[in-house]
Amino acid sequence: MRQVVMYAPGDVRVEEREDPKIIEPTDAVIRVTATCICGSDLWPYRGIEAVNDQVMGHEYVGVVEEIGSEVKNLKVGDFVVGSFVISDNTCEICRSGYQSKCVHGTFVSTIGTQSQKARIPLADGTLVSTPGQPDPELIPSLLAASDVLGTGWFGAVAAEAGPGKTVAVVGDGAVGLMAVLAAKQLGAERIIAMSRHPERQELARFYGATDIVEERGDEGVAKIKELTNGLGAHSVIEAVGTQESMMQAIRSTRPGGHLGFVGVTHGVELLGLELFFAEIHLHGGPAPVRRFLPDLIQLIWDRKIDPGKVFDLALPLDQAAEGYKAMDERRAIKVLLTV
Ligand SMILES: [Zn+2]
Repeated sequence: MRQVVMYAPGDVRVEEREDPKIIEPTDAVIRVTATCICGSDLWPYRGIEAVNDQVMGHEYVGVVEEIGSEVKNLKVGDFVVGSFVISDNTCEICRSGYQSKCVHGTFVSTIGTQSQKARIPLADGTLVSTPGQPDPELIPSLLAASDVLGTGWFGAVAAEAGPGKTVAVVGDGAVGLMAVLAAKQLGAERIIAMSRHPERQELARFYGATDIVEERGDEGVAKIKELTNGLGAHSVIEAVGTQESMMQAIRSTRPGGHLGFVGVTHGVELLGLELFFAEIHLHGGPAPVRRFLPDLIQLIWDRKIDPGKVFDLALPLDQAAEGYKAMDERRAIKVLLTV
């Protein structure tokens, strides 16, 4: 099969690799229909995270090709969506809704789904079948559910976005845009998207943003305060992961408010005393996408949400290197790879 491998920062290749096989009786092998490049794949691409001959990709939808003898919830031919973390969905942590910290969990990025096929361990717990074979136009949206939609949704839930709330979203990448969509679906009254890119602002408005703030850092915080009677937002979602964005998010949250942080943090250090006096709720981490998948799939299936619009470039898997380049240069928000 063909598979994307990152040899070194900036060096992405598509290679011939051995087809995956069932190893454990709880495995499934899927034929990947579509996969994509994640904002987090840019950290190694830019040399901020170490990388050496790494298989890439953790977002995927596809068709079950083979199942192990103990797989009960899936059958060959099912169209499936899976989260970016393998989870049994039965342990105490999974049952509490934190499948991304499953006691048997592993990251799908160690398997690599920017490939024609993938072996998915703990298939019963990890994969969710769609109600039938999807229409082709639903595939980008179902793929978005695999990570960016589920992650944005978790950010909004962690920030307690809901009726009567003013929500601010820091970050206008795919996850930030999906957090806007989630906040809207959860009934937020006002949604402020922080973005300085016209085409991303437009998408944020499409997904439900009522206000746009272009300023960043302390100026961005001042603008949020100005829009909220000097108090700050009730709910803030951080979807970048840098020191600046994290501080911007913390300082934009009103006392007693909630901050959901879902950008993978890089070099972020928080001062205890500032946190102490901020008096806000902080909740974040790798999103337990599996918790939300059944509901998100249904919303997509019923055409109530259209998260697939975050993909603004689609390329064949063999052109993955061009996809990485386009995202790195911010020519594309998110790149879908057709398989
Ligand atoms: Zn578990």
